[in-house]
Order: sequence, then C-alpha cells, then structure tokens
Amino acid sequence: MMLVRLVIGVVTLGSLTLGERLRPLRRPVGSTRRRVVVNFIIAALAFGGVAIVHGMVVVRAIQWAELRGVGVVRWLGAPAPIASMLAVVLLDYSLWHWHWLNHRVGVLWRFHAAHHADVDLDATTALRFHPGELAISVLFRAIQVIAVGVSIEALATWELMVLVFTTFHHSNLRLAPRLERVLGGVVITPRVHGIHHSRRPGELHSNFGTISSVWDRLHSLRVTDVDQASIEIGLPGQTSHELGVVESLALSFRPEVPPR
Ligand SMILES: [Zn+2]
Repeated sequence: MMLVRLVIGVVTLGSLTLGERLRPLRRPVGSTRRRVVVNFIIAALAFGGVAIVHGMVVVRAIQWAELRGVGVVRWLGAPAPIASMLAVVLLDYSLWHWHWLNHRVGVLWRFHAAHHADVDLDATTALRFHPGELAISVLFRAIQVIAVGVSIEALATWELMVLVFTTFHHSNLRLAPRLERVLGGVVITPRVHGIHHSRRPGELHSNFGTISSVWDRLHSLRVTDVDQASIEIGLPGQTSHELGVVESLALSFRPEVPPR
C-alpha cells in the first residue's frame, strides 16, 4: 500500500506540475525553485517523523472500534460496499471540521499557519505541513476512525483520495471555465482553494473542503466570487518574501500569535 501511495503521489504531483506550466492560474510572486525545496524539506520532516506513529495509532484505533462494534457506519449495518462509500463521505466531512478547527483554535492555527505561509500555491504546497500539525492530527484521526467506524480498506481508499485531491486543489492549474463549473459543483478546485490561501481574512477563513465542495455550501462558507489576480497568497500582514524551513517552522512558536 505504501508503494501504491508513493507511485500515485509521484504521478499526481508530476502531471499537475506539468499542467501548471502549461496552464498557470496565478502569477507566482516568489522563487518557485526555492519554495519547492523548502516545501519538500518541511514535508520530509513532517511526514518522516509522523508516518510510523500515525500508522500504529490509527490501525490500533480501527481494531479497537472493530472489536467493540463501535462507529456510525457499523451501527447503521449497511452492506459492505455502501458502508465503505458512507465511511469515505463521513471521513471527508469530519476532516472538513478538523480544517475549520485549525482556523478557529489558537494552538492549532499556530501550526496550520506554517502551511498558509507559502507565498505562492502549487502542487508542492500540498506537502507543506508543520510536523506539529501532523502530530496533533494523529489524535484527531484516531477519534475520526473510531467515530465513523471505518475499515482499514475504506480508510486506505480515502487517504489515497485525500492525497490526490489535496495535490490537485493546491496546484496552480487553470481549468477551462466549463470544466471549472462542472468539477466545482462536486469537488474543490484549485481556483476555490486558492481563495482559501488568500491573505484577506474573509477569504482565508472560507472553503475548508478537501474532496467534496458540498460541506462549504452546507455551512455557508463557500466563497467563489473572487478574481484570482486580486489574491495575495499567504498570511494576513505577511510580506511576499518566501520563508525558509526554519522560519516557516519557527512561525508557530513566535510569541505573537500569527495574525488570524
Ligand atoms: Zn487552511
């Protein structure tokens, strides 16, 4: 599974990077080369450190819930394929809440801000997560899999979807207007997620979805009517100079809470 994930991740990242060159959505303000290196180093630190713990904790949580028959999907007693689909939907919806909390709770925002401190968005921003954010999210993931009552197979499918969709919506890929309309009706597109990375607070604290675009509509937090050329990517009050690895990670521990 690890290998499948790696191959799909590399193919998705590679094809979107090619697409970004052919059909860019926003004009970059920082040095792409420097940003990409920084994003890869942050990803290596974060995912390298947390991956093993994540696997152990989450698998145990699933087994714990399985033994006790706990979780919404199990309680509903749906046939296996429907149960798996429902589990994927519920995982996507609960992740929406987690992302929303990351913008609302001070300590979570401190770590999540490192992700938003990228001054441009491209497929590599999808890898840029503070090790602190990933470590805390292991706990949330354990609660999530128990509450949903997900099987290991359904969780693996969802995690693969999250990988593909997160890379897609962070990319700087411009979709044809019709495709944007059709896809945007169902999933989060790069244009919509670009608004989530705006420095303007009203835009920054909107569009929390990962896969489906339904949840933002449901909570009236979907913002789409923004000209991409008017968007400055980053944190409120941030300058356009791209941050290094240490600066990005240290941001979370600065005495002043990063502007929220
Ligand atoms: Zn966010």
